[in-house]
Order: sequence, then structure tokens, then C-alpha cells
Amino acid sequence: MIFSRELSILNVMEPIVSRLFEDNYVKTGGLHCACEKCQIDIILLALNHMPPHYTSSQTGEAYIKALYMEPQLQSDVLRELTNAVKVIQERPNH
Ligand SMILES: [Zn+2]
Repeated sequence: MIFSRELSILNVMEPIVSRLFEDNYVKTGGLHCACEKCQIDIILLALNHMPPHYTSSQTGEAYIKALYMEPQLQSDVLRELTNAVKVIQERPNH
């Protein structure tokens, strides 16, 4: 098996979930605890509840932005983020 390739595999949900979380929870100051550990835990929990959407790293920014702008996707991600924020803020892992 060959593991080293020039192109890597990217789950586009990662940048999309991070960005929506940043814009809707971090910048608005809507978190009780906004430490790095809580932020990562919230993003991980949301990502683990969503189907991944893989692409190659060559696909590029334009494709990710187009997906990011889809209202249905945004609402699915925001629903998972809302749940994740609730869970982690009630029981932070620290
Ligand atoms: Zn915290």
C-alpha cells in the first residue's frame, strides 16, 4: 500500500464546520467557555454527527465555498453545532 501521495484527501466538512462555528459562536461571544479545548471538542462532536464529504486537496477553495453557501448544508451544520455547543458547554472536558 502506498500512503504518500502528492494530493491529500480532505473532508470538506472540516473547514465548513469550523468556519460556521467561528462565525456563529466564537465571533458573537456566544460561548460560556471559549477555550481551545472546548472549541475543538464542539467541532469534533458536530463533525462526528455528520456524514463526511471527501474531496481531493486539488479541488480547491471555489468548490468548498460553493458548498459552504448551500442553505441546506448550512442549516444541517448549524443544527449539529447547536447540539454540540449545548453538550460541551454543559459538561466541558476540563
Ligand atoms: Zn473550555
